[in-house]
Amino acid sequence: MSEATPLFDKILIANRGEIALRVLRACKELGIATVAVHSTADEDAMHVRLADESVCIGPPPARDSYLNIPQILAACEITGANAVHPGYGFLSENARFAEILEAHNVAFIGPSAEHIRIMGDKIEAKRTAQRLGIPVVPGSEGGVSNEIEARKIGADIGYPVLIKATAGGGGRGMKVARTPDEMAEAFNTARQEARAAFGNDEVYIEKYLDKPRHIEVQVIGDGKGGGVHLGERDCSLQRRHQKVWEEAPSPVIDAATRAEIGGVVARAIADMGYSGAGTIEFLYENGAFNFIEMNTRLQVEHPVTEAITGIDLVIEQIRVAAGHKLSFTQDEVTFDGHAIECRINAEDPRTFAASPGRIANYHPPGGLGVRVDSAVYQGYRIPPFYDSLIGKLIVHGRTRQECMMRLRRALDEFVIDGIRTTIPLFRDLVIDEDIAAGQYDIHWLEKKLSEPA
Ligand code: ADP
Repeated sequence: MSEATPLFDKILIANRGEIALRVLRACKELGIATVAVHSTADEDAMHVRLADESVCIGPPPARDSYLNIPQILAACEITGANAVHPGYGFLSENARFAEILEAHNVAFIGPSAEHIRIMGDKIEAKRTAQRLGIPVVPGSEGGVSNEIEARKIGADIGYPVLIKATAGGGGRGMKVARTPDEMAEAFNTARQEARAAFGNDEVYIEKYLDKPRHIEVQVIGDGKGGGVHLGERDCSLQRRHQKVWEEAPSPVIDAATRAEIGGVVARAIADMGYSGAGTIEFLYENGAFNFIEMNTRLQVEHPVTEAITGIDLVIEQIRVAAGHKLSFTQDEVTFDGHAIECRINAEDPRTFAASPGRIANYHPPGGLGVRVDSAVYQGYRIPPFYDSLIGKLIVHGRTRQECMMRLRRALDEFVIDGIRTTIPLFRDLVIDEDIAAGQYDIHWLEKKLSEPA
């Protein structure tokens, strides 16, 4: 398709919260009309107010609204939207949703159903990655169906090992076995958790890496043999396998290493014919990258990459979904300075108990290098039905040091009263010596949180 082909006329955003607003902003900058969908709990939401049109798609529970494919399809038909952006979470990695939309002549802004399916099955994803020349975490060849087999694999790869759900996500269905004695219980618990969370109890086994960092590479492909990487993000600061603070570049990756691993993954997605944005996740230990999974969607933490590259990832997603080429080549991607994102959750900063309710006072920080992606406002009532992420603070500086000082002052300025948030946690982290030195692995935060206050 030539550059003269128009992008979409109207995009329906099948999501809520900050990411719905994020996508809406990209659509507006491209001059594309927007449709918001919402549950009855989100009538007052910002994405509903700012969209050109909105459609109520059901009651508060996500399965009846944001996950309700027939209702979303009906909303496309009523409004004449010819593309859907799924954001992250909800239906963003649902291959059937992508297929159903395409069957109704509505473009899915994301990769093909086939690629979503392959990468959604973690065993298949590892096989594919390996075939494409990406280094993977050592582990079982495929699914492991019983304890005897599990013990054999444990003995082969050496303890500790991690039992993981094939259909896993959100850090659920993962259990460590440190010794052969722990295998039976870990194996059965992981299966039970996987069945309960994903309706699929298939598990596989990986070497449990002791002190890795979580380093992921942003990629984007045009589906026509073109693929580029946009460098890495370090997402090692996690609680319960969930990211809390992300930065780009990683404090431990130099330019040569970045170019090398970036080259490997960019070639891999070009070879796959992958279309759209994606993230290749690795555990990085002793100078080696070990692939764990690929996410076939926009990530929560994508703004840190945008900050250091100046590239709008949502605009590029829309372009490639419309059959256009990327607006840049690999040679044109440059990395400028340092960026950090803090995920602000409506949670108690020590117990992490959810804290929904009404925001009495709201004053976001501003100034040079400060970006706040949030859909909340003064007087907004956070509904109790959804994820607790209420905003992201993204700060950019010319150096990591400048970025940290800027983050410190931005956190000081941030006012969200009436509910509890994780802002106080970040105020502690930003002055921590280990973090200042960039010395932390995936266990650092949990260890820190378990120490007495
Ligand atoms: P999910 O899809 O549930 O997020 P991932 O495979 O991406 O699962 O893993 C999430 C996190 O779990 C990683 O960032 C890391 O902290 C931890 N993890 C996963 N695999 C391993 C492993 N083999 N060894 C140690 N930690 C791991």
